[in-house]
Amino acid sequence: MERRITKEELHAAVQEAYELYRKEKSGKNADYIPYLANIDSNLFAIAICLPGGEIIEAGDSSYRFGIESISKVATALLVLKEYGANTIMDMIGADATGMPFNSIMAILLENDHPSTPLVNAGAIAAVSMVRPVGEAQRKWDSIRHNINELCASNLPLIDELYKSESVTNHNNRAISWLLKSYNRIYDEPDLSLDLYTRQCSLGVTTSELAVLAGTIAGGGINPVTKREVFPAYLTSKIVSMMASVGFYEHSGNWMFSTGVPAKTGVGGGIIGVLPGLLGIAAFSPPIDAAGNSVRAQKAITHIAKKLGLGIYNGETIVIEEHANVLC
Ligand code: GLU
Repeated sequence: MERRITKEELHAAVQEAYELYRKEKSGKNADYIPYLANIDSNLFAIAICLPGGEIIEAGDSSYRFGIESISKVATALLVLKEYGANTIMDMIGADATGMPFNSIMAILLENDHPSTPLVNAGAIAAVSMVRPVGEAQRKWDSIRHNINELCASNLPLIDELYKSESVTNHNNRAISWLLKSYNRIYDEPDLSLDLYTRQCSLGVTTSELAVLAGTIAGGGINPVTKREVFPAYLTSKIVSMMASVGFYEHSGNWMFSTGVPAKTGVGGGIIGVLPGLLGIAAFSPPIDAAGNSVRAQKAITHIAKKLGLGIYNGETIVIEEHANVLC
């Protein structure tokens, strides 16, 4: 079944979601990373990236904030590209944990398996696999280059965030070394943890995140630069991972209520991907108990419901410039 929506409808839905939730007060900034506790809780932005690279945005969409766990999607794509999907399945896995993002219990229960590159354990394992193994600077260059290609930008490191997270990431240190004891980390644990912490500390805007999501929606072709960032066959792999674990222990509820595969970060960002159609991103610092931005969730849910978007709907949606007026 084919259905048409117009760019005007998209603009209106974005604006409406922004107006509806800008005064939303629930949630609280992450504070286990001290830097994040001090970000202005009122910041709020929504952006959609269309296949032609056009961005529809509302609110503080050029404010730069910590990408945090959304970086896991980028590095998962990098190692999927470097090693192929089957090897990633073997060395990391693609299972939802049903547990918090930083769960050590999940590693123990999964029989020493980090589960998926989209939770901390699997993400640290993914960083450890980035080539060339053992060479921190070249690995970092490769991680950054890949994120920049996905976002059509040049993301700076937020130094203060990196330092703040580096001195408080004891739980992630425990994860790295636990993985070592199970032979599930593929480079030196402290080097891998440091690169993981750095990638989480990159500063990104909501519009840049929409482009990242748009690149995935576009099957690996960045809609702005038109460059191929990853081969098209990896789209279904990364989107399935996002659908199964992108909202951590709330992933089932999220997919049930929106049908939009998404990935969140404790910095307050969320990206959503509708393959073949568009990428969406939203940002606001206050998060819920699972680490997912409250305003961003509400905004994306509103837009998806309003326009009937969602991967389970069995429809092909075409975006038109303007509605056809029948005379
Ligand atoms: N850097 C954060 C951590 O490892 C990322 C968590 C998230 O965004 O979900 O705790």
